[in-house]
Amino acid sequence: PIGWGLIGASNVARQWIVDAIRAQPDSQILNVLSSSEERGARFATENGIPAYTTDIDAILADGNVDAVYISTANQFHCSQTCAAASAGKNILCEKPVALGIDDARKMIAACHDAGVVLAVNHHLRCNAMHQKLRQLLEAGEIGRLNAVRVFHANFLPQALQGWRINDPNGGGLILDSTIHDIDTLRFLIGSNPTHVMAMTQSGRLAHDGVEDGIMVIMRFPGDVLVQIHGSYTVPFSEGGVEFYGTNGVLIGRDCMSQRAAGRLFMRNADGEREIPVHHHNLYHYALAAFSNAVRGTGQPAATGEDGLAALAIALAIRESALTGRQVEVEIP
Ligand code: NDP
Repeated sequence: PIGWGLIGASNVARQWIVDAIRAQPDSQILNVLSSSEERGARFATENGIPAYTTDIDAILADGNVDAVYISTANQFHCSQTCAAASAGKNILCEKPVALGIDDARKMIAACHDAGVVLAVNHHLRCNAMHQKLRQLLEAGEIGRLNAVRVFHANFLPQALQGWRINDPNGGGLILDSTIHDIDTLRFLIGSNPTHVMAMTQSGRLAHDGVEDGIMVIMRFPGDVLVQIHGSYTVPFSEGGVEFYGTNGVLIGRDCMSQRAAGRLFMRNADGEREIPVHHHNLYHYALAAFSNAVRGTGQPAATGEDGLAALAIALAIRESALTGRQVEVEIP
């Protein structure tokens, strides 16, 4: 069995992860940590969790807890991961893995030294449509890749209009949403960008200089140009990706959300056809991969190193937006 502790009485835990953990064979949620006694108690009751605590050590000292899911606000990911690793717990950490490169490296080292699994919950690579798209790209179905466009603009729901739009340290579109686009591109293209440039918007929803809109351009190895549009402030938009190759185009529609959704189309000299996709729940998939890694029979969908690479690229994008310059990406 895998016993779980939830570190963070968060929205994403309630909406997706409690269910995804329970969908795994032999997995139980034993405890939830909140900084507020009242919120912890409510979260435990509403989700049928037998205990709650405001003291992380109560979870870390519990020998029945094998794994923790960390979904606190971003500035806590590093210290809580390092503490959990020292206590020998396997860790599924939310993205961004950390706010800075040094912290992310520290987390990877702590988990490596403790011999525990570190996974980062970049869920979009668990979408069956993206997985199919990757297979087609790898099989050379559209020939040599020339350019990619990513559409990931939406309107941030009222319930999420908290730290995302008012915290200059842990908030902002880049580390919240663009970092998912980056991970998805790394997964699909199979490499890291070498150079990035970006311009951001602020002030439509976000304040205190926090960005709420972005356009990014990037160069990937092989002279592949990539463009991302991301936003918190665009209603009625549809998330998607377009991959342009020498022999054809692959188009993914409605594929940038948390839902098991997305339709894939291929257009070439024969015309346009839809490629069938058999969808699965993204979070069930991530939790299954993580559980296999804990049992020593597989790898997480996205590792700590994946989280670090996505963070490094996201920070390069932020630097470009702040300086107005092209930034060379260094993956530590
Ligand atoms: P929440 O704001 O719901 O949760 C973050 C923390 O905020 C919680 O740990 C909680 O603290 C605190 N909190 C929750 N409700 C309140 C409240 N009413 N008043 C004060 N504090 C509160 O954030 P999200 O669930 O949206 O995000 C959590 C993490 O998950 C982030 O790192 C985010 O980037 C990531 N995320 C990932 C997604 C994915 O699909 N991979 C999707 C959404 C988010 P406490 O625990 O102390 O109660």
